[in-house]
Amino acid sequence: MADKSALRAYRGKRDFDRTAEPRGRDGSHGDEPRFVVQIHDASTMHFDFRLQVDNVLKSWSIPKGPSADPHDKRLAMPTEDHPLEYEEFEGVIPEGEYGGGTVIVWDHGTYRPLSHDRRGRPVPFGESLERGHATFWLDGSKLHGGYALTRFREGKDEAWLLVKTDDERARSGDRGTPDPRRARSVRSGRTLRQVAGQG
Ligand code: MN
Repeated sequence: MADKSALRAYRGKRDFDRTAEPRGRDGSHGDEPRFVVQIHDASTMHFDFRLQVDNVLKSWSIPKGPSADPHDKRLAMPTEDHPLEYEEFEGVIPEGEYGGGTVIVWDHGTYRPLSHDRRGRPVPFGESLERGHATFWLDGSKLHGGYALTRFREGKDEAWLLVKTDDERARSGDRGTPDPRRARSVRSGRTLRQVAGQG
């Protein structure tokens, strides 16, 4: 069952009479956990990277977005847990509201946890995140292969790095990251500008 308090921070920041973002309801467990990457043209442009863990989407704000190049270490700032339905959110958050700006769903799909302990036994994914290092395999429309999230700073300024694993889905150079202003939604094929125009 959903732990309603898990979404308290998310709900506390938003006025659901004013924003079309979902309020969040009890989640149901699919066979494989989901991931989503949204592009969010807010006060600063960023990518929002979210992984389903139990009934919420664990979330990080990634200024430069994920890279398919294992040499790129992408800063990932943790943000509050989001409801599972947020995976589908694409639209305009009104100006003056929390996160005001346009959102498109850049990529989505499922992931497989890969974290193991020293003896090769699988570690529950939520536990590996709590410990500050989690590895996983993304099966998206755009993102594929292994990635690692690693916490390098704790406390008030907690910060993580998202890095591509050097596997057969790795790509070198700058082909790995999209230009957010030209990128298209995996749901609707629209750009940020096209979504904003209908907002
Ligand atoms: Mn955001």
